[in-house]
Amino acid sequence: MVQDLDMVKKVYSNFKSNVDSARKLLGRPMTLTEKILYAHLKPANGGKGTDLNNFGRGKDYVDFYPDRVAMQDATAQMALLQFMSAGIPKVAVPSTVHCDHLIQAEVNASTDLATANRENSEVYEFLANVSKKYGIGFWKPGAGIIHQVVLENYAFPGGMMIGTDSHTPNAGGLGMIAIGVGGADAVDVMAGIPWELKFPKLIGVKLTGSLKGWASAKDIILKLAGILTVKGGTGAIVEYFGSGTATLSCTGKGTICNMGAEIGATTSIFPYDVRMADYLKKTDRAEIANLADGVADYLKADVDIEKNPEKYYDQVVTIDLDTLEPHINGPFTPDLATPISQFAKAVKENGWPSKLSAALIGSCTNSSYEDIDRVATVAKQAATQNLKAKCEFLITPGSEQVRATIERDGQLGALDKMGANVMANACGPCIGQWKRHGSQEKNSIITSFNRNFTARNDGNPKTHAFVASPETVIGFALAGDLSIDFTKEPVTNEKGEKVMLQTPKGLDLPDKGFVKDEHGYVAPAADGSSITVAINPKSDRLQALSPFNAPSLDKDFNDLRMLIKAKGKCTTDHISMAGSWLKFRGHLDNISNNLLIGAINSFNGEANKVKNQASGVTGAVPATARDYKAQGIGWLVVGEENYGEGSSREHAALEPRHLGGKAIVVKSFARIHETNLKKQGMLPLTFATPADYDKIREDDTFSLNAKDLAPGKQLTLSIKHADGQTESIMLNHTFNEQQIGWFKAGSALNLIAANKK
Ligand code: SF4
Repeated sequence: MVQDLDMVKKVYSNFKSNVDSARKLLGRPMTLTEKILYAHLKPANGGKGTDLNNFGRGKDYVDFYPDRVAMQDATAQMALLQFMSAGIPKVAVPSTVHCDHLIQAEVNASTDLATANRENSEVYEFLANVSKKYGIGFWKPGAGIIHQVVLENYAFPGGMMIGTDSHTPNAGGLGMIAIGVGGADAVDVMAGIPWELKFPKLIGVKLTGSLKGWASAKDIILKLAGILTVKGGTGAIVEYFGSGTATLSCTGKGTICNMGAEIGATTSIFPYDVRMADYLKKTDRAEIANLADGVADYLKADVDIEKNPEKYYDQVVTIDLDTLEPHINGPFTPDLATPISQFAKAVKENGWPSKLSAALIGSCTNSSYEDIDRVATVAKQAATQNLKAKCEFLITPGSEQVRATIERDGQLGALDKMGANVMANACGPCIGQWKRHGSQEKNSIITSFNRNFTARNDGNPKTHAFVASPETVIGFALAGDLSIDFTKEPVTNEKGEKVMLQTPKGLDLPDKGFVKDEHGYVAPAADGSSITVAINPKSDRLQALSPFNAPSLDKDFNDLRMLIKAKGKCTTDHISMAGSWLKFRGHLDNISNNLLIGAINSFNGEANKVKNQASGVTGAVPATARDYKAQGIGWLVVGEENYGEGSSREHAALEPRHLGGKAIVVKSFARIHETNLKKQGMLPLTFATPADYDKIREDDTFSLNAKDLAPGKQLTLSIKHADGQTESIMLNHTFNEQQIGWFKAGSALNLIAANKK
């Protein structure tokens, strides 16, 4: 077992007393979320007691001490470069690095893994060395996807962790508060300093009944995404309760929590139950299950909460599992939810391509033993009914543990016979690491992944990507056409006969236990002080970081230009693209060449084409930013709603800072991106009147009274139009005192380094 058992024991030893103290202070029953958060507060006054307070949800910034940190290879590079520059000898909490994002899916698992090891050797070596030196567990390429490996090895009920990936909430399936953050936040926790979060609001989701037919756990979150939309969970933790929760497997709960990121939730969580205990035991952690059993009453909401949820949650949604249909969400956004009974109609009415070009099962969201066992029952029927996949059919297992187990138990063989190609245990097509052969035509694909923004999977903006459960994906793979409701209509087999698919069934855990991955994990050195980490100054993959300069508040915020006024959705994929750019995630200057190249310029409707107001030349966004920087011209970006939604990648904040950006002014922000901007010394600001977005012209010049930045006080954006007219608009911000300290120091990291001296 790689879990740090002493740390888990410590959390449980104080859990009851911490929760009891908090309940006394609050004078009311507590939700599960509140119990875990209050149990992880910063210790008060020299470690005696905790820093208790009746915190305002959605208002108060609170300091927490999470139990652990997880980082994936694409974000770990920048997180660890920052950690190194803070000059701290060893991580303060158990931490791990997982090599999953940089493996491209092209041929098959072994070929692609060999290619990744060759092409990324410099990065893998850097991550392995830094991990060894600073006390971090290292999971090699091929060992699995971060969230699956965390669920199998590290998540525990009542724990709290952060991870440098937006789907970190997957661990909520094991009753853990697990939050996706940027690398600078990971540095805080690894450095042993408190980690700050605005005390979240709470959305209670009551599940009643039990799933029937083709419906699966994924359909619960697909349905919820349709109800709450991509912004609905912003600033909130989604807590599931009700009798339906116990009907779901632990990994099914993980799927639901994982995709809570798609509604912008801070994280999602399920109460502890016997399904979680079973999962802990099957994954070699019976001791943790016993410890959790000892505090079981504290690992769920108090009884009164369930009786009167509206009184204790800020919002309550009820989903009846008995009547829930399979859902298909998309294209281009994960909240466009359509039940399968209505889907053929929607395909026709919207002109979506109905013929499927590819079906993909896997990712961190849906590649558990249960997922694969259920789809394998469909594949086994297919073999007896002369059915084969009617499109490209890819499987990406979530971990070597799952892959080896489904190979032993025969599910992989059944999928292989149906025409599946099994890729490496890695993110692959989920993050644009899919070397897809074929044209760039308009086409439809269906995946069991979580995210389907434009071009996310294959880089083709004309690909209509739909998200569904693995069961729905395999059904459509056999139907070959999105206008066939295979749950009610027959599909055509290789002999031209019409055959009905039977509903999938499966085990959530393997009877014979999991096959252990003996080779994927490398423990850190007991004493890493003699290990050196060298970065080649000529490398195009890695670059040592230099601290950002502290701003001159009198000078730096005058005569600003606008780099781009982004129109519509502007996710972290638009701000810092993934796909082939992933290889530059450890080299700030090189990756800055993708700054905002996916954002649509509201003045011409095109991507990566803006007018340089200094030279009058129209050019690429990064080149324009570099030119402004070279001329000492500060700039800002203007955007619309939920700017920076999507991933936790802090490159989306580092790049504008590196290329001379000063402020991002939008209608609203996604939480992680807003914090990332603050940590890097940028000003994330929102229009006090959203309609003021329309007042911004392409050739305006701006000034900001940044020196007046104070908690709760608006800033003024003075606008000088090219025709000589001037006007002022008010901007909101969410900076508190500590965050203003980051801004004035030039970055949060500058403050950590200064405090260490
Ligand atoms: Fe990897 Fe996709 Fe999961 Fe992100 S969402 S960790 S890219 S599999």
